Order: sequence, then C-alpha cells, then structure tokens
Amino acid sequence: MKCPYCNNDMVLGVIRGGRDSVKWISKEKDKGFILSSFAKGITILEWLDSKVEGYYCKECNKITIDLEKQL
Ligand SMILES: [Zn+2]
Repeated sequence: MKCPYCNNDMVLGVIRGGRDSVKWISKEKDKGFILSSFAKGITILEWLDSKVEGYYCKECNKITIDLEKQL
C-alpha cells in the first residue's frame, strides 16, 4: 500500500490488544480517562485476544488501520 501522504511504500503489520480496549473518541466527546469507557467512539481494539492490521509509513511516522465495521 502506498502512503496517502508521501506515496512511499508502507509496511503491513498488526497491533495487538492488551488488557483494555482501545477506542477512538472524537475530541469533543473526550471527557478524560475515567469516563472514556462510557464515551461513544470507534473501537479499534477489544481487550485481550484482538488485533487489527495496519500499514506503517516510516517517512511520515504514521499508521493507517483497517477497522472492523462499526455497529
Ligand atoms: Zn508517508
């Protein structure tokens, strides 16, 4: 995959879940760490045995992630 920013080749890899889920929450809905589990957002990783694939660009230091379809 070509990087959408610089058009260099990106490297495919995986991001694995840890002990907590990982979510993207819009800036306006972000009310801090304690309330983050209640905030509506886009789930990137469920906890434990989950992973997502992403492409890394070492030029731009960015990762693009293929998300699961959101419910
Ligand atoms: Zn790039």
